[in-house]
Formats: sequence, C-alpha cells, structure tokens
Amino acid sequence: MPEHNIPLEDSALVRARTALGDFELTVCTDGTYLLDGGAMFGVVPKPLWQKRIPADNENRIRLGLNSVVVRTGKHAVVIETGVGNKQSEKMQKIHQNQALLPASLAAAGVSPAEVDIVINTHLHFDHCGWNTTLNPDGSVKPTFPNARYFAHAGEVAHGHLQLDRDRVSYLSPNYDPLIESGQMTLIDDAAIHAGGSICQGISVELFPGHTAQLMGVHIEPVRAVESRSAAGGAPHACYISDLIPTAHHLDPTWVMGYDLDPLRCIEERKRFYARAIPEQWLVLFTHDHETPMARIELNDKGKPVVMRG
Ligand SMILES: [Zn+2]
Repeated sequence: MPEHNIPLEDSALVRARTALGDFELTVCTDGTYLLDGGAMFGVVPKPLWQKRIPADNENRIRLGLNSVVVRTGKHAVVIETGVGNKQSEKMQKIHQNQALLPASLAAAGVSPAEVDIVINTHLHFDHCGWNTTLNPDGSVKPTFPNARYFAHAGEVAHGHLQLDRDRVSYLSPNYDPLIESGQMTLIDDAAIHAGGSICQGISVELFPGHTAQLMGVHIEPVRAVESRSAAGGAPHACYISDLIPTAHHLDPTWVMGYDLDPLRCIEERKRFYARAIPEQWLVLFTHDHETPMARIELNDKGKPVVMRG
C-alpha cells in the first residue's frame, strides 16, 4: 500500500505518505480528540454507527485531526491546521486533544518556516487552530511565519456574526490576527468560480452544506505521466474536509448533526462521488485517524465504500 509506507516508529505522528504524480502528500496530525457520537452521525441511530466506531461511557468517539502537507516542487502547502494550543482548559478537558501538529510536522521533516501556503477549508476551531500559536504571555503569533494563508471571506463573516448555533466553533485568534497583518488572503465566490487556483496544481471548490462556504481542496499534479491512476486518468487527490469527515461517513445520508444544511450535504456528496469514483480520486479524510486517505468504489448495493486491495 503506497499510502501507508511510513516506518512504524513514526506512524503515530505521520499518518500516511504517498506520491501523486510529481507531488508528495504527507498526512500529519494534531493528534486525536473526542466528540459526541450522536452529533457526528446526526439522525443515524446509534446501533448502526456504533458497529463502525465505538463510543465511550459519555457517548464520545475518538476522531483524527489530519493536516495534509503537499510538496509540489515549488511550494510547501499545508491544508488545515488542527485544534492548536489556544483551547481553554475546559474545552481541552472535554475534547482531550493533544496539540501534536508541531511534533508531527517535525517527524515528517517539515519546517514551519518552509511552508509558504496554508489553506483552511473553513474556520471551525478544529480546522484552523495552529494557524496561530499562543505564546506564554498570552499573545499569538503566526505558526507559519512565511506562509500566505487562504480562507473563504464568507467563513470569516459568518464567524464574526457569533451566532447562537455555532459561535463556539469560531475563535477569532485563529484568523483575525492574520487578516489584520495582511498575511491571510480572503477568497470570494468569484475567485472560486474563476477556477479557485491557489498555486499550480492546487485549487479550491465550494462544497456547501456543513457550512455555507466549505471548500474542498483539489490536488492535481501537472507532470502526471508516470503516475496515472488505475482508471487511466491523471492522478487527482481531494481533501474533502467536513463534507465527508471520515470513511465511516461515506453513505450520502450519513451526514452530521453539526451540518448547517444536511440536505445540501447529501446532494454535494452525490455530486462529489459522480467525479471522485469514476476518476478514482484519492480522497483525504479530515477526521479519520485510521483511514486518512482512500479511493472510493460502489459496493454491490450501490453504496460508496473504501476501495479494497
Ligand atoms: Zn467543521
């Protein structure tokens, strides 16, 4: 399995590494955290989801916090930055998160100073936490000092509204200091409709539903000749973020209680599969600690499942 060829001693901190054309993809991790199992599986009855992922005695399940480092030859790109080290003691106790991303990047041989692009698919606290690092004196500094950060303008606007439903998910120290310093570029829908290019081979696309402006990240190496997918097409990976948070969420109807528009999520998942399955995209899962990447196929019942073999 080329996706899992990491030496055993590093496997806890570096979840997967693979070549995609002339790009290198490494899945780093901020560790794991605990979320309510019911919230993660929405209206799916517990007897069904519990067969796939066990809950503790407080009904919590363990999830991963995967960041993907893409080396394109020209750029070192980090997609998503985990929970970070700015959690209050109370929230840290609830989530039991470990703030491992700096150690994970080090284990993968990635220096924060060499990262020149950071992409946030949306601005929930568990996706952009290490955008900035909390100093002992209470101030924050950019974790990636030389990077240009990218996020959707609509996510920032939504976060600033501090709505009753989801204000706990939007922590402004994760993005406001970067906006104020000019280090974060805010993407709008017009830029996405014009192709959403971040750099050569990496682009963003809207997959709304979890939030109104959730972005998936497409990774499409330019020089792809030596590494054609089994389907014969050009290699293509996609970090689909919270549209499909884990490999246990592949069924289009297994959407999350957290999703702002679950019906839209179901339609967007179908739209995603219509390309990802026939073109055999490598799908990168944001919250799956055990299966950080997989190709998808339809089983004999027509349901999307992880491709075996
Ligand atoms: Zn989210």
